[in-house]
Order: sequence, then structure tokens, then C-alpha cells
Amino acid sequence: MQALMMNSQLMISSILRHADRNFPDTEIVSVTADNPRHRHTYKDFANRSRQLANALVKLGAKFGDRIGTLAWNDYRHLELYYAVSGSGMVCHTINPKLFPEQVNYIINHAEDRFIFVDLLVVPLLEALQAHLPKVEGYIVLTDEAHMPDTSLKNVMCYETLLGEESSEFEWPEFDENTASAMCYTSGTTGNPKGVVYSHRSTLLHAWGGSMPDVVAASYKETTLPIVPMFHVNAWGAPYASLMAGSKMVMPGPKMADGEALQHLIESEQVTFSSGVPTIWLGLLDYLQKTGKNIPSLKRVSVGGAACPRTVIERFKHAHDVEVIQGWGMTETSPLGSIFCRKSGMEDLSEEEIIDIQCMQGRGVFGLEMRIVDENNNELPWDGVAFGALKVRGPWVSSGYYGMSQEPGSQGCPVDEKGWFDTGDVATINPQGYMQITDRTKDVIKSGGEWVSSIEIENAAVSHPAIAEAAAIGRYHPKWTERPLLIAVKKAGEQVTTEEVKSFLKDKLHKWSMPDDVVFMDELPHTATGKLNKLSLRKTLEGYEFPN
Ligand code: AMP
Repeated sequence: MQALMMNSQLMISSILRHADRNFPDTEIVSVTADNPRHRHTYKDFANRSRQLANALVKLGAKFGDRIGTLAWNDYRHLELYYAVSGSGMVCHTINPKLFPEQVNYIINHAEDRFIFVDLLVVPLLEALQAHLPKVEGYIVLTDEAHMPDTSLKNVMCYETLLGEESSEFEWPEFDENTASAMCYTSGTTGNPKGVVYSHRSTLLHAWGGSMPDVVAASYKETTLPIVPMFHVNAWGAPYASLMAGSKMVMPGPKMADGEALQHLIESEQVTFSSGVPTIWLGLLDYLQKTGKNIPSLKRVSVGGAACPRTVIERFKHAHDVEVIQGWGMTETSPLGSIFCRKSGMEDLSEEEIIDIQCMQGRGVFGLEMRIVDENNNELPWDGVAFGALKVRGPWVSSGYYGMSQEPGSQGCPVDEKGWFDTGDVATINPQGYMQITDRTKDVIKSGGEWVSSIEIENAAVSHPAIAEAAAIGRYHPKWTERPLLIAVKKAGEQVTTEEVKSFLKDKLHKWSMPDDVVFMDELPHTATGKLNKLSLRKTLEGYEFPN
């Protein structure tokens, strides 16, 4: 028997309509290259998004076309999110911090027809445009007064484009499985791969992420998404915030600037924010150095890389801010798991709660997790067994854009049982809390035991003289591999190998203790800011442990 319910398609434009009707006065505050503090409301935003949709039609953009963006977190980028997807085109966000040859590859592979570019990123495209034959025009995200003198061909000014258009536009209805956005994920090897989101996956992800024990999106919150809109849609904040009616504060290019972030948080009374661990370390150091505070901030969500314990402790003790660690990937939209306090934890000590916050959290409804051994057999959730982490659900990728989707091929990341292999290794405890111990390729195998490089790195960065650390496996004649710790000292600090080892002694199991510590001035990173262990392993190829 068929149900008798409306089969309404889940459309991104419906979020905009909802925000426009229900929260017309809610503010969006942005830092942009041409304005240190721009303010407008959801009502203004909705009007401008409709103007932009009309402008896209006039440009000749068609249903299904890819429209590229190279932009920071601000209101114009947000307008693109809604106008492009809402019109049935694909909003292809590109990371301006990638290597130019990667940006070049991505734009050509996606066949972007138009690119909307931030003022600060114009020089990158000027250098690349000769290699971008399919791009028909570039739109600079600014007004006439700030238009740069540029060699970009077919260049237009965003505000001029909008200014000529009507704010009346009827958002089309179409199949909810239509592509809405694209984001390329770049590993340490091979070309970046295109992840394609749908209207349906985006809405379900934003709904799932808004639940009270997930990020609890609410109109009572003022939210500052520091995680970039070019990296997995700022973790869904642009959708969840409009659904809930939260005031949005957008940091623009000031994402890694402790002083600017503190000022934004204080002056706009930000209550919730999201970002990767390095952003928070930078902000915490700035606050410590200046004695400044962030009293309005209550919660921060941290993900993208393992959150060091020291970040959780410093937020708690110095600022009374709760850290919510989450795990996810470009391919999982990104939300997979997140910290929450479950009932029965009321009697745990502060230290025990921090132990749980250091894990990657429990699964969010909508995304199923499992861990498996080498033969794809499921492992128990006992907090001890660790294996490959696999996931499935309506906001998980089933394939990569423009690649063969044949089972077993590179373009199809899903196994024969329908699970996506994350490339992460994890344990899951009986309460459902998952802990990432490594990337599959970074696991250190010592005498048959798996040693977690992340555990060693987290312990090392809690040393007051260490700014950053990486652990990799190096050849050992007896154990096959043993952990080597590579550490970067904080400016002006001194510390020796022996001091680091003795500091780690009561923090790590004996078999996880690094056999040696070497110091470097800096560690290599990928364009998305993750440690580049492949490059580190190459640099230390000939390394031998001392006897
Ligand atoms: P990306 O697709 O660039 O966002 O990278 C996803 C990868 O980042 C995951 O597969 C993990 O290896 C890593 N990652 C994300 N969040 C966390 C976390 N909370 N702890 C440890 N690793 C994480």
C-alpha cells in the first residue's frame, strides 16, 4: 500500500524561503576584502540571492552547469551557495590555498563555465586563465569602487551584475537527487577527486547536524563558521544556520588571525563556532598572550584533524568553553560522528569527560559506522579492537565525479556490501564513541602491534615547549617498525630529546613510546592544512634509530 503523503522534493531553495519568511531580521555579519564589517539581514540576503539567480540566467548559465567559486566565508559566497544551487546549477567551491596546478586541474575537470572570485584571489586566476579554455567569464566579488585593474578576460563586477536585476525570482522545483554542489578532495597522492552533493543529501545532513545532541543549531545562537566554505561547505553551517535562524558571523579572509577572531567574537557576541584544531591553537595562544577574553563563546566544534587534549583543557579551564569534537570527511558531507554527553555520565570526573571529548564522538543518526578487519569482517564495539572504519548513509558519496563507477575502481569507493571505506582506522567503545587511531596508510606496525601515531602526536603537543608534532613508523631490525617523533619547538623554547621522552613516559603505553625524537623547524602540510606524512617519510628516508 502506498502512503498518502506529499512527495515534496527536498530543495535547498526551501531553506532560503524559510529563512526569508521566518527570520527576516536575523543578521549576517561579514568581513570582506572590501569592507571590514558588512551587515545585512536574511531578508536582504534572500532578495540579493534572487537577483543573483536572475543574473545567472542572463549570463546564459543553464541547469546542471558548474559555477566555480574561489572565495572566503562571507555574504556574497553565501548568496552564491543559494542562487547557484537553487537555480539547479552546481556550486563548485574551490580551495584558493591549493597549489595552482591543482586549482587548474580542478576547474578543467569540473568544466566550470563561470568563476566567482574574491578580490584577493584574482592574481591566482590571472596566472591560470590561459590554461582554462572552458571558463567563459570571471566575476569579481566586489563593487565598482574596488574593482581591480586586472588582466582577466570577460571580467565582471559582482555588485554591478546584481544591481541590474530584479529581486523577483521563482525557484524551480526538480528532482531532489540533482547535484547541488561539488568539492574536490585532495589526498597526498594522485589528482584531486570530485565529490558531488545533492539537494537531498545537503538537506538531510543539515537536519541531522542540527539535532540537540549534535550541534544544536538554534535561532538563539550567534554562529561563527571559521571552517572555510570551500572545504566541505563549511561543515554545513550555511544550511543549518538558515534553517534554524541563527545570526551568522563570517570571518572572510581573517580565518587564521587570532586578533581578528577575538574581536569578532567579542563585538558580535558569538556563542558557537567551528574550525580545525590549528585555528583554535592560534586563538588560544593569542588570548593567553594578550589576556583578552571571549566570554560570549559557549561551545566550539572541532574537526578535520584530531583535537589535541590541550585545546579541550585550555578552552575549558581558561574560557569555560565546551569543545565538541567531530569526525568527518569531504565524502561524508562531512558530519559522521560528534561528541555529546550521554545520560549516565553525570558522575564522571572532569578528566574522564575530557577523555571522551578527545575521542571522535558517537555516530549521528543518518550515518552508520562499522569497523572491519582485513577480510571485511565486522569487529566488536569493545573499545579495544581496531580496524578500517566504514560508513554508509544518505549523505555519503557513492562515487567520484567523472571517474568510472565500476565496483573496485578508483572512482567507486564503496565495497560490495555497500559501505564506504574512509581510509581511517578506529576503535568504537560499547557506548558508541569512536576513536580514530590513524589513517590506514599512517599506522605504525611494531612487532605485530598497531601503534597509533595520533595518540603519540597528541601527547607530544601537550608539552609546553612543543608547537607541532608528527609520528611516523621507521624501520627497526627487531620490531620491523618503531615510532619516530618529529617535533617543532615553540618560538624561543628549548627542549631535548630526553626531556620529551621522559615527559611522554606516563602518557603513553610502553610500546607506543617513540624510540627517538628529532626536531625540525617546520613540518610539511597538504594544501588543506593536514600533516603531509608522505613527504615527511621521504625526507627521513635514510633515517636510522640510534642504538
Ligand atoms: P577531508 O576530506 O579533507 O576533510 O579529510 C577527512 C579526514 O580528516 C578523515 O578521513 C580523517 O582522517 C581526518 N579527520 C577528520 N576529523 C578528524 C578528527 N576529529 N580526528 C582525527 N582525524 C580527523
